[in-house]
Amino acid sequence: MSLDAVSAAELIAWYAEMGVTEALDETPHDHFAAAPEPARQPVARPQVAAQQARRPVAVAAATPPDEAALSARALAREATTLDALKTALASFEGCPLKATAKNLVFADGNPAAKVMFVGEAPGADEDRIGKPFMGRSGQLLDRMMAAIGLDRSSAYISNVVPWRPPGNRNPTPQEISICRPFVERQIELANPDILVCLGAPATQTLTGTKDGILKARGRFYPYRLGDGREIRALATLHPAYLLRQPVQKRLAWRDFRMLKSALDGSAPGQ
Ligand code: URA
Repeated sequence: MSLDAVSAAELIAWYAEMGVTEALDETPHDHFAAAPEPARQPVARPQVAAQQARRPVAVAAATPPDEAALSARALAREATTLDALKTALASFEGCPLKATAKNLVFADGNPAAKVMFVGEAPGADEDRIGKPFMGRSGQLLDRMMAAIGLDRSSAYISNVVPWRPPGNRNPTPQEISICRPFVERQIELANPDILVCLGAPATQTLTGTKDGILKARGRFYPYRLGDGREIRALATLHPAYLLRQPVQKRLAWRDFRMLKSALDGSAPGQ
């Protein structure tokens, strides 16, 4: 490869890392050079300003995280169905990830299922399609579910964070705490018997454990729903981790057997 080809490849890899995944045009444009004069601010008309102030805006993007999390909690609590929750989430402006994502990734599968899987955050495929676990991790998750007789008609699937973090970076603790009331309400409304936390962020967010996933996995944790009902949350490895570390699939297999036993109402190994 020539030096130019190498540096072009490096540049493209760097762009991909930063979340630039699509070219908008064949030729580059220097948008700074072409920047128009800043638009003059319209003179505020008191009547319009008063109307705008009254409109129930679901929190602006630069909202302080604590305020955004409070607003998320209030919005989520008001939703009494999963459809209403999805609509509330779509109108929520408190999470900065919404600005860079193409689509809201709310859920896939059957909301009436006995088991609900919760992952971390959508990737590029999920962002494009608008459904969780659509890419390689999703294909592996489908195979893992199939191994214990589940598919997307007998499981409900979601993520802790419903918008793709740019460049597939991990969601920050702040982004997670802003989005958390929504996923908690989603669990409450779906009302599964068993929750499966895929990977460390889902496990730590939903069970409260601080343990790393290799220690936390393979255990059921009590999970209390808003109405006081207690269900069980099983921690296991994330399919994306298993794609990188296939040798660990044996651990996930143990966890999935525990899940199957729990769904069948029997003790593991029976
Ligand atoms: N990884 C996740 O955690 N969730 C998805 O939806 C896809 C990949």
